[in-house]
Amino acid sequence: MIYYPEKYNIKDERMKPFIDPDEIWNYINNTPSDKERVREVIKLSLGKKRLSLEETAVLLNATDPELIEEIKEGARTLKERVYGERIVLFAPLYVGDLCTNNCQYCGFRSENKGMKRITLNKEQLIEETTALIDQGHKRLILVYGEHPKYSAEFIAETVDIVYNVKHANGEIRRVNINAAPFDIPGFRTIKDSGIGTFQIFQETYHEPTYAKVHLGGVKRNYEWRLTSLDRAQEAGIDDVGIGALFGLYDWRFEVLSLVRHVNHFEAVYNVGPHTISFPRIQNAMSLNIDQEHLVSDDEFVRLVSILRLAVPYTGMILTAREPKHIRDQVLRFGVSQIDGGTNLELGGYSKGKKQTQDLSMEQFQINDNRSLNEIMDELIKTGYIPSFCTACYRLGRTGEHFMEFSVPGFIKRFCSPNALITLAEYLEDYAPDDTKESGYKLLEQKIHELSKHQNVDKLRENVEMVKAGKRDLYF
Ligand code: SAM
Ligand code: SF4
Repeated sequence: MIYYPEKYNIKDERMKPFIDPDEIWNYINNTPSDKERVREVIKLSLGKKRLSLEETAVLLNATDPELIEEIKEGARTLKERVYGERIVLFAPLYVGDLCTNNCQYCGFRSENKGMKRITLNKEQLIEETTALIDQGHKRLILVYGEHPKYSAEFIAETVDIVYNVKHANGEIRRVNINAAPFDIPGFRTIKDSGIGTFQIFQETYHEPTYAKVHLGGVKRNYEWRLTSLDRAQEAGIDDVGIGALFGLYDWRFEVLSLVRHVNHFEAVYNVGPHTISFPRIQNAMSLNIDQEHLVSDDEFVRLVSILRLAVPYTGMILTAREPKHIRDQVLRFGVSQIDGGTNLELGGYSKGKKQTQDLSMEQFQINDNRSLNEIMDELIKTGYIPSFCTACYRLGRTGEHFMEFSVPGFIKRFCSPNALITLAEYLEDYAPDDTKESGYKLLEQKIHELSKHQNVDKLRENVEMVKAGKRDLYF
């Protein structure tokens, strides 16, 4: 059953709104930002300390090009120190585009009568999942419009269908969700289906702008959305993803609000969100928003770098909305997860690669339509370690991020070896010869670099076992 917020009684302090626009604007308008202070803040962040709102505002207010370069350089160093060279790969799978909301930036909105409405049935969902497994994917994010048909039970069923597809050597090992907010029992039903992360983006944290662009449906309720991931936490989903849709309002306000959202989770649940997303508005069917706050490429790279420094322990996701040259830049400055081989058309993966998008069948335009293997190949040649690892979540090491960073040596002992084992699986099962050759070269080099660390003999053994046909090995 879909949940309607007016019936919901927000009794709990923990679920009260936590964004105070005056506080946010006060930090933006009244925080001085000189060279010394900017350098001090970068240093704090390089000590792996999460920045306060005031400290983040110092970075936001730095406009001198030299200081902006220092911020980017700081983000690059921090990213290397905290995450190493791993990049996690995933793909979005759109399950249904029915929607009762009227978000002015989205092709799926209810007033777009020309949009082709499709909800994948079981067979189609299996076909799509199989096509994604055939690319080499292990991690998906299932995406849904907001509609009574897409109840918690429906979502749980679709998750179950995806997990049960076994195809050749492959399967999907982690299913994340991007869907409408639920009430606590709804979130519980979805949690029980075994999901990884539940993502809900606030779109804009600025309430008047929120009201201007959300003109119909349940999503009009700003507070219901703002407190949604608190309800998810209460339902036991401790792995949540937040985000803002950049281009609706002043980007500095959104960045500080995202940091405020992180503070809120840390204060109340003792663990921050697992990921932050920062989609930038792209063209969509009948896109209807003011141009005033659109974010330029330079601003975008800057905001990603600032977010990286502000929340060192939160994973950062970048999608194929952005073109390759922007993806390449922000991978260096902070992003830890990207999608590959993306196709937003409902049922599109099983139809195969296409050259152009049809915006009457897709939510918005994407600007990177490289195949998963093209992306893998480039990551490998640039020296990144592409990872399909899902070990922590499957071993019940949740609050996973907290674990990765709080246990000394965790990344070297677990994350890097697991990334390399999943890379070996990809090379064996899906890579063309030239990618396989450069992939194994990288793998050898990285094993060599890890050789001082625990698990390296076992890692070699596991890679040999993968070559011999074993799958799904992890620490
Ligand atoms: N219907 C669910 C909801 O609104 O939460 C699922 C989300 S939607 C399918 C995924 C996200 O895409 C939205 O939260 C929004 O941030 C983003 N989005 C929507 N229209 C967009 C556009 N034109 N360009 C870029 N991102 C867009
Ligand atoms: Fe519906 Fe989500 Fe699109 Fe809004 S963003 S119209 S809720 S699919």
